[in-house]
Amino acid sequence: MKNISIVGSGTMGNGIAHVFAQSGYNVSLIDINETVLEKALSTISKNLDRMIRKEEISAKDKEKALSNISTFTSMEKGVKNADLVVEAATENFDVKKKIFDSIDKNAPERAILATNTSSISITKIAAATNRPDRVIGMHFMNPVAVMKLIEVIRGYATSDETTQNIIEISKKLGKEPVEVNDYPGFVANKILMPMINEAIITCYEGVAGVEEIDTVMKLGMAHPMGPLQLADFIGLDICLAILNVLYDGFGNPKYAPCPLLVNMVTAGYLGVKSGEGFYKYTRDSKELVVSEMLK
Ligand code: NAD
Repeated sequence: MKNISIVGSGTMGNGIAHVFAQSGYNVSLIDINETVLEKALSTISKNLDRMIRKEEISAKDKEKALSNISTFTSMEKGVKNADLVVEAATENFDVKKKIFDSIDKNAPERAILATNTSSISITKIAAATNRPDRVIGMHFMNPVAVMKLIEVIRGYATSDETTQNIIEISKKLGKEPVEVNDYPGFVANKILMPMINEAIITCYEGVAGVEEIDTVMKLGMAHPMGPLQLADFIGLDICLAILNVLYDGFGNPKYAPCPLLVNMVTAGYLGVKSGEGFYKYTRDSKELVVSEMLK
């Protein structure tokens, strides 16, 4: 596999493009408009600069990685030579269904179609295509360039060959693939999201403030980041979408999203990507400042 197309260039898509390009693959990055794509390229460039400062790569490596990436707003052009397509668009089944229908029509028959979904059924996404044996979950972690894990999720009809190919390419990216079965949230988010939701409920019930909750989990449990800061980092809209998939998929009220999370997403407080969630984010701000709304 040499030609990799990535659909969606947001938080995850630009990170996935970064790691494939840095490993020497030809990357076609696809999104709905030029502005989003320009922002993605600028983020990749900044992240490569950070790696140069840490002496992990050279300036020449950066140039080479960037030259491996082409951008497209047309799905037809963006996937036409793909050996592997990784979809990293919005966490919504209807959006992904339309995207997979279009990828399936435009990508070569041999191509494997992977999704970076955090929680949506791979089997259901695969059923939107005419190649369910070549559809698989390839769940990268955020930030993609730093995190080692790739959760590899087999749908009901995913073939052994497809799974093996994804395990091999994950290793070529320097990642650690772990194979899991296709149930809501898979492993990572079936465990992580209830913890984040419980932290939000703890704040909503007034048991403690935002900083106190995060400090307890950082210092008490040795988590590198508190659960509320992590929720901001993931995106509160993504957290809500995943909790809804867990709630609907298992039919268990223990996964019901906290009303505070629902309100924050409805009001557009999405965390880092919108500039404010549990904390307020200003350009280059190093210190964590709790959102005025939650004081
Ligand atoms: P995001 O909102 O940052 O980016 C989504 C991107 O998809 C946007 O740029 C949007 O313009 C684009 N998009 C939407 N519809 C499209 C279409 N029809 N064609 C092309 N592009 C389209 O979201 P994200 O956080 O990058 O999440 C993307 C996927 O990765 C989701 O499935 C999410 O669950 C999963 N994921 C997210 C995280 C995380 O920490 N944020 C971690 C692992 C997996």
